[in-house]
Amino acid sequence: MRYISTRGHETSYAFTDILLRGLAPDGGLFVPQSYPQVDADTLRQWTQLFQRDGYPALATAIMGLFIDDIPTADLERMCQAAYNREVFATDEVTPVTPLSDGLWLLHLSNGPTAAFKDMAMQMLGQLFEYVLAREGRELNILGATSGDTGSSAEYAMLGKRGVRVFMLTPAGRMSAFQQAQMFGLDDPSIVNVAVDGVFDDCQDLVKAVSADADFKQRYRIGAVNSINFARLLAQVVYYVAAWIQVSGDPNHRVSFSVPTGNFGDVCAGHIARSMGVPIDRLIVATNENDVLDEFFRTGVYRPRASAQTWATSSPSMDISKASNFERFIFDVVGRDASRVRDLFVKQLGSEGFFDLSGTGDFAAVRSRFGFLSGKSTHADRLDSIASVYRHEDVVIDPHTADAWGVAREALRAGAVEPPIVVLETALPVKFAQTIEEALGFVPPVPARFADIESAGRRVVDLPNDVDAVKDLIRRHVDG
Ligand SMILES: *Cc1c(COP(=O)(O)O)cnc(C)c1O
Repeated sequence: MRYISTRGHETSYAFTDILLRGLAPDGGLFVPQSYPQVDADTLRQWTQLFQRDGYPALATAIMGLFIDDIPTADLERMCQAAYNREVFATDEVTPVTPLSDGLWLLHLSNGPTAAFKDMAMQMLGQLFEYVLAREGRELNILGATSGDTGSSAEYAMLGKRGVRVFMLTPAGRMSAFQQAQMFGLDDPSIVNVAVDGVFDDCQDLVKAVSADADFKQRYRIGAVNSINFARLLAQVVYYVAAWIQVSGDPNHRVSFSVPTGNFGDVCAGHIARSMGVPIDRLIVATNENDVLDEFFRTGVYRPRASAQTWATSSPSMDISKASNFERFIFDVVGRDASRVRDLFVKQLGSEGFFDLSGTGDFAAVRSRFGFLSGKSTHADRLDSIASVYRHEDVVIDPHTADAWGVAREALRAGAVEPPIVVLETALPVKFAQTIEEALGFVPPVPARFADIESAGRRVVDLPNDVDAVKDLIRRHVDG
């Protein structure tokens, strides 16, 4: 399998070549040259494999279709190390539970940081360690986080040879739970930094350090981007695992409702569907930051300025532009890289938006690609949390609530038929304040997080200053 750029760069790459890269050289995103196709026989084999040997075996089979430069035995060992009861608290790894009216919950947030990003990040940690060791290289990951992604990356890279993590956080702006989770880690290769500034300042510092090409090379600076294809690939697996658990019949399709921010999670669903996994509808659920709902309703894609990006009660979906979206549009326009360049470079660059309404491409988004969308407000979110609690005796987190609410609405409108799998992307304990607002009580703290807030606090305070960040990296790397 070779990987190409959505913008048509002439070189193609092997999987392990794109693993440690960010964007393609022409600014596009890496995608597989084609999606492997599976038939009913393969789907039946996967069902048996999952039932007999579990999630890691299924993950090996699916990821192996996209990775031909890592021996299967090595891939299998990594899948076993990433996906097991010790890491994800259950043997199924991603169990499902039924709700009323043909809705299901797919539990993706039982990993070390209680959010679904662990599903991809745990595998990424394995792959990074493996490829760095094979190439005799080291990597210093420099990142900025407002919460979920940074902690998930740290737990994934923890104890991996050849990898150090420097994670910049906005001082005093993360929840107590998030701070405890990150700052409690006691490992010399994990360096938490509290920057005197906001999240955007942290991100600017990362960009400024990476822009210094000499420093970047000398100190082997890398990233764990949300656009890393390996992350999407790891996520394809749980769409198949969900279909197996809810249906398992190649003739019986399942729909998914996905709380969406950067379009990573639902893009993995799109890849699974494109491979021939029996998926009917993919429902994109946004919060008040509805740039994607706007596209799926109107055909207009208009990224917002940060001043028009609202801070909501489903904060992990507070995005102004959807960084994986170009991958989907590449498929929508028939994998025509010149059209992608026209839309994402020319039109977004000069007009600030593009408009596919009235084109056959946009009609295909719904008909051929199966997409639907909807959005939730804060009030909808509270209603959804309360309703699921009242009728199902289950507490869901605010992001999952957005997906549940949009799925119910689509069902009511007759736009989709059951079964619909709602992706649960975080545990309620991470967003206790919103749960309390909806239900009048704070969610119980799972036993494994019981004393997280009494763990130590390992964090370096730094001013909002590039040289201070570089000095810190130098001190750690040069020893
Ligand atoms: C990151 C995140 C999302 C959004 O996922 P994307 O892949 O960015 O669409 C939804 N819910 C939670 C809890 C998240 O952390």
